[in-house]
Amino acid sequence: MICSVDELQKYLKLTDSERRWFSSKSKSFPFLVTPYYLSLIDPDNPNDPIRRQVIPLSEEFLNSKGESLDPQRENSYSVLPNLVHRYDNRAALLLTNKCATNCRHCFRRRYTSEEDIIISEKELKSVLSYLKDNLQIKELLLTGGDPLTLSDQKLDNIIGLIREARKDIVLRLGSRVVVTAPKRITESLVSMLRKYNKAALYLLTQFNHPKELTKESLEAVSLFIDNGIPVLNQCVLLRGVNDDVTTLETLMNSLVANRIKPYYLFQGDLVSGTAHLRVPLKRGLELEYQLRKRLSGLAMPQYAVDLPKGGGKVSLGRSYLKDNDENGNYCFETMEGERRIYSDPTC
Ligand code: SF4
Repeated sequence: MICSVDELQKYLKLTDSERRWFSSKSKSFPFLVTPYYLSLIDPDNPNDPIRRQVIPLSEEFLNSKGESLDPQRENSYSVLPNLVHRYDNRAALLLTNKCATNCRHCFRRRYTSEEDIIISEKELKSVLSYLKDNLQIKELLLTGGDPLTLSDQKLDNIIGLIREARKDIVLRLGSRVVVTAPKRITESLVSMLRKYNKAALYLLTQFNHPKELTKESLEAVSLFIDNGIPVLNQCVLLRGVNDDVTTLETLMNSLVANRIKPYYLFQGDLVSGTAHLRVPLKRGLELEYQLRKRLSGLAMPQYAVDLPKGGGKVSLGRSYLKDNDENGNYCFETMEGERRIYSDPTC
């Protein structure tokens, strides 16, 4: 792991803004990157899309309108330590706050910047009782931090107990390790996880740029898929990283070609210190429109935003239903901007 400025400077020359971040005393979210992920950066390009995701800038010290450290109000939806129950039918279990790489856009930085946290046995026991008592929870997101920073043995123990408590629950394992530390994905890890996919177990990754789809990361993904664990991708729309239609088109098509379903394209959350990475909503909507014209339904992710103050996730995108005519028929606009009428049944 590379976590100090001295180590980092062996690989690349810092820009003024990066240097200001490292020399400031007010930084709260630590710098952390794997040598592998760092090696994807072109050291001669200060605007490299991988660099923007992991090398901090002094812009992180600015606070923009509406930002907070907990925009999804996860703290108020935490029904137990480490368990966030925001939606009736699903919940998120935070197993650890450690990650292989600290992403500068992280929406959970209030948690990932803390000293090492790993769910305790006592806390897990309470979570298991809660899951048994709340059968309306159909899906459990295992998240953090990054759960795959835990040892195979620890994960085996945790997931085994969850499966014992709820054989039916669908598990979603949220991890960026395939992107930032693909060597962590081993045959033994995947065969351990495979024991638990009798009720579905999905891997949710976060590829944000085509440069991240390397031989190593794709081999890691293949290990999951070849062992019956489907892989979905949640991409974050990031300024200076992937906010142009060609990059997104290439990313989504490459994901599909490699058996990864593009699931979400997230508008950035209003997290403190991330304004320089957020794309204006108007631009995001335009990208969604252009992308929809270029991509198949399979390759098109759902563009969505988590509304501030814990308002929940909503889909974003252009409406093609424009209005109703004088007879009550629906008036649509086609992708090419032409008008079409759709009528309800009359018999
Ligand atoms: S891997 Fe996920 S939780 Fe960890 S820093 Fe990146 S976005 Fe945040």
